[in-house]
Amino acid sequence: MKLINSTLGCITYYLFYPFQKSKMNVLSLYFHDPLPESFEQVIIWCKKKEYDFVNIDEITNYVKGEPSKHKKMVHFSFDDGWATNKALIPIIEKYNVPITIFVPVEPLESGNFWWNYVYAKHRSLAKVEEFKTYNEERFNSEVNRIKEEIKLDREAVTFDELKEMSKHPLINIQSHTYNHPILTNVNDKQLDFELSESKRFISELLEKEIDTFSYPNGSFGQREEDAVSKHYKCGYTTEEKFVQPGGNIYRIPRTCLVDNYWSNLSRIVGAWKVLKKIIP
Ligand SMILES: [Zn+2]
Repeated sequence: MKLINSTLGCITYYLFYPFQKSKMNVLSLYFHDPLPESFEQVIIWCKKKEYDFVNIDEITNYVKGEPSKHKKMVHFSFDDGWATNKALIPIIEKYNVPITIFVPVEPLESGNFWWNYVYAKHRSLAKVEEFKTYNEERFNSEVNRIKEEIKLDREAVTFDELKEMSKHPLINIQSHTYNHPILTNVNDKQLDFELSESKRFISELLEKEIDTFSYPNGSFGQREEDAVSKHYKCGYTTEEKFVQPGGNIYRIPRTCLVDNYWSNLSRIVGAWKVLKKIIP
């Protein structure tokens, strides 16, 4: 599979890059829990292509239509607060790369993410996807049942580690809800709690302003966007589009990267999403 992905990624990258590069002056890329070498390979590619590594506010301001001093810029964000993210610190220091880590509160407190309980129980990614369609009540009762049954080793950073990381000048911690639910499945009251309480909690824990949000699973509609706009100055999605000036600051796109170099380059040039439509 890795070889197929690499081959397809390589071919599509070289096919797409010449046509797409004029739209690629601003890149908004994100990972979950990459291997340090996967992250470093993309950084090296960005350096070769003369991208400046910028903080997330520069991306937000660009989308707002504000002028930027950077001809080409890239920002990396990370969702969920995986413990493995700590191993990336020497790399961000080596290349001077500012990053944003979007964290939910409860998984950091308990140590694990709900989807890994579901996966540990059913050994099926399809089952994880199925859980994402459950209404709030069913979702909570089934996840809680599995949590009582299965114990997992800690996967998330601890609050103490998060506090340490937050002091790093290159690391910006921001909000990714309280419980990491699929926001489109929760009621209005819970939606407001997820947004306001995560902001309050993280802000008090880290003694800093929390004003930037990323939608868990990239799931949102107009209701979620409106709710985010009440509590945050901008919202980052998982829509794999190029970043454009004058866009909606509550729908700033991000392209998901993984542990495969050529697949990542194919994703950056926008080819992978085309490929996914052709090859399911
Ligand atoms: Zn997430």
